[in-house]
Amino acid sequence: MGVEDIIKKHNYTKDISVFLEKTYPELVANIGNEQLIYNALMDCKIVLTDNLYTCLKGYGFLGNTKDEGLVSFETLKICSGVYHSEPEIKYEKGLNQYTLEGVNRIVAINASSLNLEIYKAALIHELGHLIKSYNNEWTIKGDTIIERSGLITRIYQLHEKNGVVTKSLWSETGVGLEEGFNAVLEDEVTSKVIGKPYFSNGYKALKEIARLVINLVPGIHEVIKEAQIYHDNTRLDSKLGQTFYDLQEITDTIYPMIVKMSDMNTPKYERHKISENVIKILNDRFKVIIDELKSVGQSSIEY
Ligand SMILES: [Zn+2]
Repeated sequence: MGVEDIIKKHNYTKDISVFLEKTYPELVANIGNEQLIYNALMDCKIVLTDNLYTCLKGYGFLGNTKDEGLVSFETLKICSGVYHSEPEIKYEKGLNQYTLEGVNRIVAINASSLNLEIYKAALIHELGHLIKSYNNEWTIKGDTIIERSGLITRIYQLHEKNGVVTKSLWSETGVGLEEGFNAVLEDEVTSKVIGKPYFSNGYKALKEIARLVINLVPGIHEVIKEAQIYHDNTRLDSKLGQTFYDLQEITDTIYPMIVKMSDMNTPKYERHKISENVIKILNDRFKVIIDELKSVGQSSIEY
C-alpha cells in the first residue's frame, strides 16, 4: 500500500504523480486512516481539463439527464474543480427492490497543469471531498438512497421506468458546514505541500465559522473529522448537541448566498446586497451560537 500503486493504476502524468507523492503523506497526516485514503484514491480517477462539464460527460457521468439535483452546467462553469460520484442502482421488479451495484467516482480540476498553488489547492479541496465521502457513501433504504459526504447528508427518492432507475433530490443538509471545514483542510494540507502558509479564497465566511468552532471547543476538530469520515455523528451529538444543528442551520442558510456572491455573473450591486444580508444574519444569530460554543468549550476544559 503506497502512493506508487495509485499512480501506476491510473497511469498518471508526471505532473499529477509528483503532486500525489507530496500530497498523499500530508493527507494521511491530516486525516488519518491511510487505508481509507488509499482505497479512495485507487477507486477514483483525477483528471485535468479545460471544461468540467464536457469532461464529466466524456467519462460517462451526468448521463442520466432525468436525474435531478445533479451538478448543473451553470454551477460547473464557476467551479475550479469538482468531485462527482454516481451510484449504479439496479431495480428488481419481482422483489420490488433497489440494489446498489457499484459507485463511479471522478475528481476533475479546471486546469491544464498543477504548476500554480491555486490548482494544487483546488485538487486538495476535491480530494478532501472524495476521502470524506468514500466510506459508506451511498445507502439504499426502501425506495430512497442516502448520500453522505463529510457532514453532508442528501436524501434522494428513487424511481424506475422501463428498467431505468433515476433519482430526485429530496433533502440536503450540512453543505455549508462541510464546505467550511473542507476549506480548513484545504488550507492546512496545501500549506504543508507548498511549504508556506496558504489561505484559500473560497467560502471565506464558512471557513471562519469552522475555525471559530475549532478554536472555541478544545478537541472538537478530531470529533468532527471522525463524523466526516465515518458518517457517524454519535460523538459529535453528545459533544455539541443542539448547537451542532443550530450551526448547521445557519451555515446552510448562508451557503447559497455565498455561492451566488462568488459567481462573477452576479452583478456587483447584487453581490454587495447579498454580502450585507450575510453579515446581518451572522450578526443577528451567530452571537448566540458563539455563546453556546463557549460554554461547551468551557465544560470540556473542566472535565
Ligand atoms: Zn467543496
